[in-house]
Amino acid sequence: MALKGDPHVLIVAGSDSSGGAGIARDIEAVSAVGLRTCLAVTAVTVQMHHSVDHIEYIAPDLVAAQMRAALVSNTIAAIKVGMLGMMGTVEAVASVLLEHPSVPVVLDPVLASSSGRLLLAQEAIDTMKTDLMPLCRLVTPNLPELAILAGTPQAKDEGEAVNQGRLLLNAGSQGVLIKGGHSSGPNSTDILLCPSENQIRFDALRLAGEMRGTGCMLASAIAAHLALGEPLEDCVRSAKRYVFDRYRQLA
Ligand code: PLP
Repeated sequence: MALKGDPHVLIVAGSDSSGGAGIARDIEAVSAVGLRTCLAVTAVTVQMHHSVDHIEYIAPDLVAAQMRAALVSNTIAAIKVGMLGMMGTVEAVASVLLEHPSVPVVLDPVLASSSGRLLLAQEAIDTMKTDLMPLCRLVTPNLPELAILAGTPQAKDEGEAVNQGRLLLNAGSQGVLIKGGHSSGPNSTDILLCPSENQIRFDALRLAGEMRGTGCMLASAIAAHLALGEPLEDCVRSAKRYVFDRYRQLA
């Protein structure tokens, strides 16, 4: 059994029966950094790689209870939040995070699966923006998520994406990592925006093929590096390298 003092990353996310995304990927990414995980499950999904067949949401008070139990049982050095599903879950997670303001939180604002199934209720998007995002050290939208969160059409170029990211900072986010995986070109470029700091670009070669779970792994790896007390820029760089190497191995 782990001693209470070992740093853990608390993962608040959904399961994916196919193993392509969700909690399985989160645990893999945190373990690769050498840290332990504990869990608050938000939803159980029945998925194959190209379809989401069923979603069973966990009641919001049960999600909050899992988080509180994990926080009492272990030293939680960072929290990763992924799929939330329901408005009540967004509110419940925000209320627990408010009780632990010193723990850094990385939010992957999961809105839909690659196959198009909604993974967050439409009416919960505003609550995520107003109640949850300001509590997070970093929010990691891809380009379609960024556009929805900013309330604008999808960015046609990098300048537009940065403007959308700044809208989220103005709305109270502490940091936004814009993931460029859904753009085109030989490189996949992510851009880190923080209030009153210059933007930082992270370039990686775009890997061929269809990849699931990259968003889950990236956010969890960033949370694990934050748990080790590293500066945010270094956390993002290390996490990107991890996701790139992992997928090159799998390809
Ligand atoms: N299922 C779960 C439980 C997830 O957390 C996510 C993304 O975070 C997805 C599915 C979507 O993954 P993908 O875009 O690879 O389909």
